Amino acid sequence: MKYKLIMKRTTIANIWDPKLINTQVSVKGWVRTRRGNKHVQFVALNDGSTIKNIQIVFDMEKFSDEDLKGITTGASLHVIGQLVESQGKGQTEEIQAEKLEIYGTANPEEYPLQKKGHTLEFLREKAHLRPRTNTFGAVLRIRHTLAFAIHKFFNERGFFYLNTPLITSSDCEGAGAMFQVTTLDLNNLPKTEDNKVNYAEDFFGKPASLTVSGQLEGELGATALGAIYTFGPTFRAENSNTPRHLSEFWMVEPEVAFNDIKDNMDLAEEFIKYCINYALENAKDDIEFLASMYDKDLIERLKFVVENEFIRLPYTEGIKILEESGHKFDYPVYWGADLQSEHERFLVEEHFKKPVILTDYPKEIKAFYMKQNEDGKTVRAMDVLFPKIGEIIGGSEREESYEKLLARIEELGIPMKDMWWYLDTRKFGTVPHSGFGLGFERLVLFVTGMTNIRDVIPFPRTPNNCEF
Ligand code: ATP
Ligand code: MN
Repeated sequence: MKYKLIMKRTTIANIWDPKLINTQVSVKGWVRTRRGNKHVQFVALNDGSTIKNIQIVFDMEKFSDEDLKGITTGASLHVIGQLVESQGKGQTEEIQAEKLEIYGTANPEEYPLQKKGHTLEFLREKAHLRPRTNTFGAVLRIRHTLAFAIHKFFNERGFFYLNTPLITSSDCEGAGAMFQVTTLDLNNLPKTEDNKVNYAEDFFGKPASLTVSGQLEGELGATALGAIYTFGPTFRAENSNTPRHLSEFWMVEPEVAFNDIKDNMDLAEEFIKYCINYALENAKDDIEFLASMYDKDLIERLKFVVENEFIRLPYTEGIKILEESGHKFDYPVYWGADLQSEHERFLVEEHFKKPVILTDYPKEIKAFYMKQNEDGKTVRAMDVLFPKIGEIIGGSEREESYEKLLARIEELGIPMKDMWWYLDTRKFGTVPHSGFGLGFERLVLFVTGMTNIRDVIPFPRTPNNCEF
């Protein structure tokens, strides 16, 4: 027993090391499968550090059936033994067990992941345990790798990570319906004289919500630090039950002083290629696993995006292409229409067969802060459209003129009480600047080849779903 305590654990990711062959190792993890006969038992052990399992071999002359009774799928073990080159097919190395400690059993009658091959839908109902499957282990490791790549990309380029608030009192962020934040007793609301809710008695003394975007505060950062990015959760209360929308999702929002729309497009293209390439190089085993299970073209598609220039095209020309395509769409196409995913995917998958950056959208369908073009009709917006996904990035050059921005705010009837601090950026030392928002889960969707956004976040929040 004493000997056990001084032996250092090796993670399974680190076990495939030629220097460890024919030495004694200590591993800990969860049982994936067990098989064998009365002479020898084989256990596939996984500890989450890698998609690969290590095979543990129990010589039944050294262990009794009783010793191994608790070893069923899902049980947690500590094994000490000799790491040797495997005699069997299918794995290169295995551990010949010498000592066994069972941390916790998993009753086969009850453990939900007892059998292999569950559907993704079934696993969504078991979101608390699904990280123990090969698929979700791979997705979550890739998600981590992409998050790390994002910080690395910006850090290498002198951007500062800015943390913008999750609770906000402005309801004009303009990107979607908001969740209200309150400590008022909903069964006993304080009322004003004209029978409205008296928010003066609420926690912040006024209505508050969860943020839908960190951009407006990001602009304050960029016009002080030069180049910033946010990377945090955002919340949207829209009832959109699609495979691409979550109620709580993570957004990456760089914002750069002195960048125009062209610089912004260059940054977006370089950024997204960097992240995909980083995942290809650093999460290879996991991407290969998902490709083999779900999507044979995945790796080719990822490499294609990294290696090819994105198409850059004004909205007006995009509409022309869609109108002249003769293709039947569910939603009508006309100048002024907000593009649906089917339109975006037609341009990317059918027409250009490349990612597309669509620019210069009609001002009516875009946010108030976007820089107005000379034509008086369009704004300097840019959406990056991806195969299988549709919109993955939305961004723009921002309106830096105080007068024009104020005029647009008044035209749209946005309450000034919410906007004075934002307008100050244009009043004091205003500069041209640009930025964009990348939906992190849409990037993870693209890189993993998963088809439902609920399968690329550990704990998905969607309408009527807030269990785990
Ligand atoms: P969509 O048209 O797809 O609903 P949007 O135009 O409302 O998106 P933006 O406000 O431009 O989205 O947000 C920036 C990015 O955040 C989008 O390009 C997308 O990648 C991502 N995103 C937006 N809404 C969601 C959501 N509900 N769930 C996950 N990601 C989202
Ligand atoms: Mn958008």
